[in-house]
Order: sequence, then C-alpha cells, then structure tokens
Amino acid sequence: GPALLFVKTSQGKEEGRRFYACSACRDRKDCSFFQWEDEKVSETRLAAREEYNRNHQPSFTHRQNVDRYKNFVQLPSSKRRFCQECQQLLLPAEWEKHSDHHFLCDITTAQLRSPSQLLYPLENKKTNAQYLFADRSCQFLLNLLIDLGFRRVLSVGTPRLHEMIQSKASQDEEFSVRSLLLDIDFRYSQFYTEDEFCHYNMFNHHFFGGEAARETCRKFLYEENGERVIMVTDPPFGGLVEALASSFKKLMAMWRETEKEGHDYKEMPMFWIFPYFFESRILDFFPGFSMMDYQVDYDNHALYKHGKTGRKQSPVRIFTNLTPSMIVLPEEEGYRFCTVCQRYVSSGNQHCEICNSCTSKDGRRWKHCVLCKKCVKPSWFHCNNCNCCALQKHSCEKTDVGCFVCGKAGHKRSACPSLS
Ligand code: SAH
Ligand code: ZN
Ligand code: ZN
Ligand code: ZN
Ligand code: ZN
Repeated sequence: GPALLFVKTSQGKEEGRRFYACSACRDRKDCSFFQWEDEKVSETRLAAREEYNRNHQPSFTHRQNVDRYKNFVQLPSSKRRFCQECQQLLLPAEWEKHSDHHFLCDITTAQLRSPSQLLYPLENKKTNAQYLFADRSCQFLLNLLIDLGFRRVLSVGTPRLHEMIQSKASQDEEFSVRSLLLDIDFRYSQFYTEDEFCHYNMFNHHFFGGEAARETCRKFLYEENGERVIMVTDPPFGGLVEALASSFKKLMAMWRETEKEGHDYKEMPMFWIFPYFFESRILDFFPGFSMMDYQVDYDNHALYKHGKTGRKQSPVRIFTNLTPSMIVLPEEEGYRFCTVCQRYVSSGNQHCEICNSCTSKDGRRWKHCVLCKKCVKPSWFHCNNCNCCALQKHSCEKTDVGCFVCGKAGHKRSACPSLS
C-alpha cells in the first residue's frame, strides 16, 4: 500500500528533507523503497517498480486459498500435509514439488483451528514482530471482553485471539462471539474466508483486498441486534505510534459512520496492547485512554513472560478508552482494586498519598521524590546536577532531544534499549 512521508532532520536544523518510505518495513533491508518527496520518477523506474510488484505477489489469491482449504479439509488426515518451508497447506498434486522440503503430515482439525501454532512466528523485529499471547493472557482478554458484554471483536494484528474465538465458536453453538482478523500476514488467508480475515496494513490503513475487503470490515462494525463491537490490537512495538494512531482513528471513523441503533459510546471501544513506556505517546493521540496494570504475557518472547517464575516481568499493558473501573483484573494474580484511583492495580503498586494515585508503571513499588514532585522508579535517585531523578551511575550530561520511545537521551528510537 501507500508509502509514508517521513522527514530527515539533522541536529539543529528545523526543516529536514522529506521522503517516502515503506510504511510496513521499518528496515531498509526488508524493503528498499525510497523516494524524495520532490523527486521526479522516470517512466522506466515506474515500470520497473510495477514489474517488481507483479513478481512479488503471493502465489495464490485469498479466494484461491479459500477454495484450496475446502479441498484440504475433505482429505483424509493421511493426505493432509503442511510444508514448513513454504508455510503452505499442500494438496496431493503438489507433494512432488515440495518433496525435499520439511513438511508435517496428518494435519488434524485441531491444528487447522490453531494456525498460529502451525505457522512459525515471523519474528523479524522490524517488520512482523509476531509475538503470540500466552494462553493465560489470551484467555484473560477473551473473558474480559465477554464479561464487558462485547460480542464482536475486530482483531487487528491479534491472530491468536482471533483463532481462540473462531475455534470456540466452531465447537460450541452457545458461544456467540465473532471475530474479524485484520493482519499483514497473508499466510492466514489459507485458514480463513474473506469474512474472517482481511489482509491489512495497520500503518497506512490499507486493505489489500480493495473495496470488497473494506466493505467486509464496515459490515462487521455495524452493530446489529445489540451485538457490540470492540477493537483489540497488538501492533509491533517498533511501530510508529502516529502512523498506528492515524489508522486506528480511521477504523474508529468507519465504526462511527455505520448506523447505530443506539450509541452507548461516542468512540469505538478499544484495547491497544503496547509497552508501558509508550504511555505518553499513546495519550498524545488518544487523551481519553487509560493504561491498565495487567501484564500481558507472550509465548515466544523469553523476556515478556509472567513475573512470578523469576523471569523479567512483561512491560506490555492494555490501553483502553473504557472506564478503568470496569476492567476487572484477576485477584488470584495479585491485582487489587484501589478505591481512590477506581481501578485495579498490580500488587506492588502502592497508592501515593502525595501524587494521589497508584503511580507504578512497571509493577514494582515506586518512591516519591519531593524535589521532582512525582514518584520515580525504585532504582532512581535525585541528582542535583541534572535536577531530576536518574540511575545512580548515569553521566550528568546535557540532554538532547530524547528518544521517541522512552524519552531518554543518547540514542534514537531504532536503538532504544527498551525495545530489544
Ligand atoms: N499477540 C498477538 C500477536 C501480536 S504480534 C497474538 O497473539 O494474537 C503483531 C501482529 O501484527 C502479527 O500478527 C503481525 O503479523 C501483525 N503485523 C505486523 N505488521 C503489521 C502491519 N503493518 N499491518 C497489520 N498487521 C501487522
Ligand atoms: Zn515447500
Ligand atoms: Zn490508587
Ligand atoms: Zn508520588
Ligand atoms: Zn527527583
């Protein structure tokens, strides 16, 4: 889809030169597209680009994949193969071509219901950054939104939540929740119909399936029979918050424009799952959002697993435009309700009388600094040189413009230690 317009700024200079680059790949190694804003592009180069795009289409369309799936499920399990190298369900006629690839045999219905287990996670940091919810967190999210009364979930970059919903719906007639997955990972088109999955880029709000896919999404957002919709998204953490926010506002606008029987909310309810150190960036774009203390855990991310096991605690939180007091966090995991703040907080989060709020962001107990007039991390001390709190062994240097991610000086967002 469309490139994004960036600006190169060099220190001291106000105006930088503007250029277009790929919205989805934040690493030039993944996509080399680059064009100055004012650059004249020759006919030959345009033609070459188009040629390149034609040659880099997926081997099957979504429609073809849906038909292939229909054929696949009719095969006896002895004939169901999945090529791990091509990440593709294989029909018997194709076995030959993949004979020297690694493949899985006897694919079960249960496996087809959990494509996120079958497909390998695309972990390349700068593009897909596919980190899958731990079952505990996924189950928590689903129960939470059901308890809140939602019956439709727009799953934007949350394939595991989508598959949990689809899987329950296919096995239990009473289960009335529905989900539509929007994701850039086209491999999912092998498992879901056009009504269940749209190939979508959340950095530029591009539907690869064109107007038909847009219409699918619009229809899904239309709340019939009082079936309320919530959007749940878990974007790559390296992503530009402004680009994401702009797309999410467009999805919200889509929701608003569908005719509603009665508006309970002015804004489409949303869970945006993101690390706590992005709080101020998210609030810049969505001032009405609050950050919940719940720590979201992942399966394939060694660092982002639950704290109790001695591992590092997950920095990932839920940001939402719902009233914080409605978001009930599990007491068996140590969360408790703070009556002053009117929200659930983590066990280590102490209510600070001076700030009049539960101030910890990372789950540890924070301490109040009278000079800074706010609570700070337990490992920080007030530095009279810098006139603020910092790690004891920081170097007192004049701070330049901080990193866009964590706000600290000395590195750019691409090298932010919070992300690695
Ligand atoms: N925790 C989630 C997965 C989050 S990982 C779960 O378990 O369901 C981030 C997801 O965003 C991946 O599924 C990835 O394919 C998707 N993604 C990455 N870049 C994207 C983009 N530009 N547009 C849409 N989806 C994207
Ligand atoms: Zn293969
Ligand atoms: Zn409190
Ligand atoms: Zn305080
Ligand atoms: Zn201080």
